[in-house]
Amino acid sequence: MFRLDERVAIVTGSGSAKGIGRTIALTLAEQGAKIVVADLNKEGIEETVSAITEAGGTALGVEVNVTDKASIDEMVAKTLETFGRIDILVNNAGISQKVTVDDMTLTDITKIFNVNMFGLFLCTQAVLGPMRKQKFGRIVSLSSVSAKRGGGVFGGAHYSASKAAVLGFSKNLAREVGLDGITVNCVAPGLVNTDIWKSLPQEDALQVISGIPLGRPGETKEIASTVAFLASEEASYITGEEIDINGGSHM
Ligand code: NAD
Repeated sequence: MFRLDERVAIVTGSGSAKGIGRTIALTLAEQGAKIVVADLNKEGIEETVSAITEAGGTALGVEVNVTDKASIDEMVAKTLETFGRIDILVNNAGISQKVTVDDMTLTDITKIFNVNMFGLFLCTQAVLGPMRKQKFGRIVSLSSVSAKRGGGVFGGAHYSASKAAVLGFSKNLAREVGLDGITVNCVAPGLVNTDIWKSLPQEDALQVISGIPLGRPGETKEIASTVAFLASEEASYITGEEIDINGGSHM
């Protein structure tokens, strides 16, 4: 695949057992990057770190709340103290909620935006300094197909809106930091074979599958390989881009 030797990558939300973030962390580690496994979930962090080290990789676990600036500053400080640089930030931490606009409260919206957009903003802002100094950086953020065509059976309008905000934010930032050697891109997964998928009632699952030309949900490794590409040297002339990974459910 795409080698990332000597690169240091922070992957937020990489503590979830069956989540996309853990597979991204493992994949980047396989490609030679040193990984900062950053999550709220202490146990999950330990499991991801163990999986990486057992496979011969290097990882540091850091408990972080991406909605809390002090906690993020601590994550960045620990990363620099341990590895001396930050080359890659994968903004993967995210939450969803299935609720209609009629039933949605301002608290619901704030909760979703706090993690999916404001948290992503705070993490991104915190790594720009070190990346500028190095004249190198790769920022890859998780948007969603929901940003482009609504969430359907999965999330509410607040989730879709937060993931659309990620796209606009990333494109703007890509223009600001290009001359600093930093690229900013997004991946927009469709339905992925994680706990969300497994929890769907069969009727909903069949309905979703019928709208996917490839006839199945994506696998976390299919998201992770695209992230590894965008983080690599091979993607050096790609910025402000979003890559759809959705089996054709949105073209
Ligand atoms: P997941 O729930 O399995 O993992 C998310 C992780 O983020 C968890 O480990 C959680 O502890 C962490 N997290 C949540 N809030 C946090 C906070 N405040 N600070 C730090 N960590 C926090 O989710 P997933 O399904 O693997 O999704 C990962 C990303 O991909 C999300 O951004 C999601 O919106 C996006 N996505 C997922 C799908 C899908 O089908 N699963 C589809 C499109 C986009």
